Amino acid sequence: MKLNILKTAAVVLITSLPIQNFSAQKIQEVNGRKLINPFYSRTDTSILHVTDAQWKKVLNKNLYAVARKNNTEMAYTGKYNDFDGIGTYYCAVCGNALFKSDAKFSSTCGWPSFFETIRPKSVVYKKDYSLGMLRTEVRCGRCDAHLGHLFDDGPTANKKRYCMNSISLEFVPDKKIEKK
Ligand SMILES: [Zn+2]
Repeated sequence: MKLNILKTAAVVLITSLPIQNFSAQKIQEVNGRKLINPFYSRTDTSILHVTDAQWKKVLNKNLYAVARKNNTEMAYTGKYNDFDGIGTYYCAVCGNALFKSDAKFSSTCGWPSFFETIRPKSVVYKKDYSLGMLRTEVRCGRCDAHLGHLFDDGPTANKKRYCMNSISLEFVPDKKIEKK
């Protein structure tokens, strides 16, 4: 009898654990799909060390292809290319703050373009020798997701043009000041 009670208690404990873990995880809407992404945080800036296999479970197919396999979305197709909302752009993979909307400028290149990041460590840079040329690749400083490339032909004094994939970004509008 006692053994049965113990067994029942063990079963209850084991089956309730995943539920607890589940509720502790954030369910994020990433590009229109609700996915459980336990690595996503807009406040935690600690650097993540997550394997490709783990990312594949929590990112939708298109975001995974760009963020982890360095794909580039087609020019003029991204949701933020022709977009001028006021707010903040976060990494769609991990929630790291990347750009303010006042650093975005109209570019004819076909991808959303910015002249500076929110923090110097918002992103990291890597040499990219693909396509038979040397470019500066821009990756998320927190989760190492591929974001796009950096060019030196921007319209501002620093000449910087962060040429980003829309899918790698998640725009959050500034809260409107409520009138009393
Ligand atoms: Zn990230």
